[in-house]
Amino acid sequence: MCIFCKIVAGEIPSNKVLENDEFIAFHDINPVAPVHILIIPKKHVENFQSVTPELMANMTSFIQDVAKELCLDKNGYRLVTNNGKDGGQEVPHLHFHLLGGAKLKWTHLTENDTHKSL
Ligand code: 5GP
Ligand code: ZN
Repeated sequence: MCIFCKIVAGEIPSNKVLENDEFIAFHDINPVAPVHILIIPKKHVENFQSVTPELMANMTSFIQDVAKELCLDKNGYRLVTNNGKDGGQEVPHLHFHLLGGAKLKWTHLTENDTHKSL
């Protein structure tokens, strides 16, 4: 069972923001922005490349609800999914990073950069 499946099962605690039958949103344990939320399907899907359009349709609505819940819908936010090895995906369970609460910088990072941020 992957680490996010354990969060879904309640075996690992998480600081939840919103939940429904299909998805959970919770605070990232290592935030890189004033607001840093992870949004995952309860069903184990490895990454964006393998998600179905049907699941993404519902996930899109859920992500929009999370942004509203946190009052990020007016000022904006960044939505990121790291896909696979080159994308920097560390947890092999589909998740979107919802980042906000400040005006974010935009950086394109490669292995040669000395720090990790989004
Ligand atoms: P990735 O690099 O796969 O796109 O992002 C994985 C994210 O999961 C990282 O930002 C990391 O801080 C977060 N993370 C890893 N383990 C846990 C955990 O047990 N709880 C929470 N809340 N976040 C986690
Ligand atoms: Zn999983």
